[in-house]
Amino acid sequence: MHRFYKKLRTSPPSSPTPPQPIVNEPPIVDVPESYPPDLNPETVVDELEADPGLRKNLNTVAPTEKERDRIRNAFLLKGPFQPKNHVFPLTPFGKKNRRFNTSWFNQFPTWLEYSIKKDAAFCLCCYLFKSKCGTGSNDSFVGEGFTNWKKPERFQKHVGDHNSIHNQCQRACEMLMNPKRHIDVLLSQQSEQVKNDYRIQLTSAIDCIRFLLLQGLAFRGHDESKESKNRGNFLELLNFLSCHNEKIESVFKNASDNNKLTAPSIQKDITNACSVLTLKAIILELGEEPFAVLVDEARDVSYKEQMAVALRYVNERGCVLERFIGIVHVSDTTAISLKAAIESIFASLGLSISRLRGQGYDGASNMQGQFNGLKSIIFQGQELLADTHFCRKIIYFWLGCDL
Ligand SMILES: [Zn+2]
Repeated sequence: MHRFYKKLRTSPPSSPTPPQPIVNEPPIVDVPESYPPDLNPETVVDELEADPGLRKNLNTVAPTEKERDRIRNAFLLKGPFQPKNHVFPLTPFGKKNRRFNTSWFNQFPTWLEYSIKKDAAFCLCCYLFKSKCGTGSNDSFVGEGFTNWKKPERFQKHVGDHNSIHNQCQRACEMLMNPKRHIDVLLSQQSEQVKNDYRIQLTSAIDCIRFLLLQGLAFRGHDESKESKNRGNFLELLNFLSCHNEKIESVFKNASDNNKLTAPSIQKDITNACSVLTLKAIILELGEEPFAVLVDEARDVSYKEQMAVALRYVNERGCVLERFIGIVHVSDTTAISLKAAIESIFASLGLSISRLRGQGYDGASNMQGQFNGLKSIIFQGQELLADTHFCRKIIYFWLGCDL
């Protein structure tokens, strides 16, 4: 912020403060950043030292990713620092003296650098992108520099496999230099027409799903092939919509087979999104008020034990509402398991069991005995709040729930 706004001096209060002795305060000045924003990145590259052993960390030089990318670009345009005419000093390795070999520059022309000051080898790609891609543990090409001339095979080891950090950095360099190949750029270059068509497709699918959910109708058909006379409610409704809207018809007609947004998995995803939003709306309406819970046994076609759970509460206008919040599978029908299932659904919705003021269970259910046990467990140790604010609402609960 200091770079864009200058601090203003606030004028000292005129009275009634007594006159203060004049003190030589330091003037309020903007703290300079590492470099001004209008500075040419190539100039920064020159300042950053050509010798890789003396360069500062890129993060300390450029505060933002955008500025770092400009500097990286300038570095990559200059290429790695490879002083081929330098007389490389000899270093004793056991009985032999060894030194950096110029042929290694030809072997790794895109990234290998040599520091004259430190007599060490570095990696340009890893230096530029180590903050993004991370660094390998104890990798000397990024830290102090590689100096073990006895083991030139370590160069290839640094390159590593396809997913090595070096190769990730190398790909990042290539993408920076060839932005047209970057997938984000390719996606953003999609024409507005394609985006609009996709939006129409998605909106149509969502509208059909909302209609079926509202009416409680099944989505799928027994035969959903193109030759079928009844492809199920969802596909038939979408077809009906297309027949009455030319734009929707043309969009679905031109969409490729793998991009029609009619797959069952997409129907489930959108349905799940609808259920999340509906539950959010119910919890928002309930607010911080107390509520009662209504539980019923609901076996599915495979005879799996399930509990259907609904909330009963009074809204702001004093109306008693019952809202279905979900079906919970229960592993067994003991009272403790049923309580754990209720607690889990409450926890997923951010509801506290301490706000529970009533319980209602199906008296004719096969699980009546277990429900009775559950009722007593839930209210074990809890006391109803003797608050007059709740009395009005508790009267409503008495109408339909056991207290
Ligand atoms: Zn590297």
